[in-house]
Amino acid sequence: MNARATFNFKHETFNMKNTFTTLENFGHSQSAPSYRFTPTTADEIYESFRLAKKTDLTVTLRGAGRSYNDASLNGGGIVLDITGMNQILEWDPGSGTVRCEAGVTLEQLWQKVLPDGWWPPVVSGTMATTLGGCLGANIHGKNNFRMGTIGEHVTEFTAVLPTGAEITCSPKKNSDLFHSMISGLGMLGVITTVTLQMKKIDSGLIEVHAWPTRTLAEQLDSLLEGAPNYDYIVGWLDTITIGHGQIHAANYVHDDPDPAKMQVDFQTLPNRLFGVMPKELLHYIMTPFFNNPGAWLINTGKYTASVRRHTFRQSHAAFHFLLDYIPKWELSYGRNGLIQYQSFLPKETALQTWSEMLATAKKRGLPSYLGVTKRHRPDDFLLSHALDGLSLALDFKVTDRNRAKLSKMLQEFDQMVLDAGGRFYFAKNSETSAETTRAFLGDEAVMRFKKLKKRTDPDGLLESDLYRRIFGNS
Ligand SMILES: Cc1cc2nc3c(=O)[nH]c(=O)nc-3n(C[C@H](O)[C@H](O)[C@H](O)COP(=O)(O)OP(=O)(O)OC[C@H]3O[C@@H](n4cnc5c(N)ncnc54)[C@H](O)[C@@H]3O)c2cc1C
Repeated sequence: MNARATFNFKHETFNMKNTFTTLENFGHSQSAPSYRFTPTTADEIYESFRLAKKTDLTVTLRGAGRSYNDASLNGGGIVLDITGMNQILEWDPGSGTVRCEAGVTLEQLWQKVLPDGWWPPVVSGTMATTLGGCLGANIHGKNNFRMGTIGEHVTEFTAVLPTGAEITCSPKKNSDLFHSMISGLGMLGVITTVTLQMKKIDSGLIEVHAWPTRTLAEQLDSLLEGAPNYDYIVGWLDTITIGHGQIHAANYVHDDPDPAKMQVDFQTLPNRLFGVMPKELLHYIMTPFFNNPGAWLINTGKYTASVRRHTFRQSHAAFHFLLDYIPKWELSYGRNGLIQYQSFLPKETALQTWSEMLATAKKRGLPSYLGVTKRHRPDDFLLSHALDGLSLALDFKVTDRNRAKLSKMLQEFDQMVLDAGGRFYFAKNSETSAETTRAFLGDEAVMRFKKLKKRTDPDGLLESDLYRRIFGNS
């Protein structure tokens, strides 16, 4: 697939694999036609910038395209698909330090390090994401309150800037770019290699404590009170009945050092349901339930089945990547896909704000089918989403009929979050405007970001649909 062909691109001769194609976001709710280039070296990245400048096009970076919104879309422009840069360059099982190209996925990473007794310190709910994309958004895991975001575990990265300069950044070297390119949504330069510190673990298992919560208040209290006692904590919230839910709090296991359980075969999620049905087919079966009555039925069934407090052990992969268990589950939302809306609120305002939000959604007939809550802590990255508080992620089905109504409601939610002192995550929300961005990041952070961008990208080549939405056209 890495075959090169010399081609004529807008009267320029260029030597890189490319296609003109329509790319989608993860939720399939947005799409944009673009020129997709797949570079495999720093030189090819620079060549793409040179070409973009000559042809007056903008460039967006794309990892696995798992952002729920327009973060890696660029209507009419160039999209640099980094997934071709996917080599694990160095792995030291003694120190747990790994150096990878930016297109390496979390799946490749855990499969490399786990057999030696290590685990990535921060992972997303899917293992399909690339390290470049994870740094671009500065992802958090179910342990954000304890381990911070992924950026806190990066010891160094290298990057190619649109000027052609190749730089190295660490917390001490080019520290301003370290703290802004991580979280910088690929708008300052292309991260090409990442050096990360893994977490030592003693077992291939994790011990999960599950208990039900009857109200939103009980769920938020559980997260706040439970977090100090666990390595991970996450809540599932039934946002249709509003309040029923379940907490999963987990700890690393130290008394089961069976090396076989650290092997990839043991961890890998089975690809058949009950050993029979290929999981690829499951989303077809789920589709008829992805409407208001169906979601009520699923949520009620899930809550009824989980009212007993219990403890169980499962593999790391099964605990962290539950959403990967059903491949392409997002297609169950139908032709127009889904929007995820995640807001981060201080613990003092979370209950009231989310109660109002969920009541509004219910009243307008726009209920969310899935709610996920987490506990967070702040960090030092420039465009950070995290704070000392909690987050609630809500999945909304998009239809031809509800799209405009949904968009209006989510903009009203943005105002509620701002009023409550909250923050937003640029890998998730689809509505956040430039005005809202400025209000939550503050003028100083926006000015600092723009100043850094002038330095790394003086011709303004790096732009995405997201960038134009949240920072306004350059
Ligand atoms: C099922 C599911 C579960 C998820 N769970 C979580 C979760 O628990 N926590 C969480 O924080 N997020 C979560 N996410 C969101 C996801 O982790 C982020 O959107 C992540 O950025 C996606 O990585 P990607 O490789 O797909 O990057 P993309 O979506 O392709 O890109 C993300 C951003 O990074 C930039 N970028 C890509 N490559 C580079 C590079 N080489 N250099 C610089 N910038 C680059 C892009 O321009 C874009 O702005 C989840 C997403 C899904 C679909």
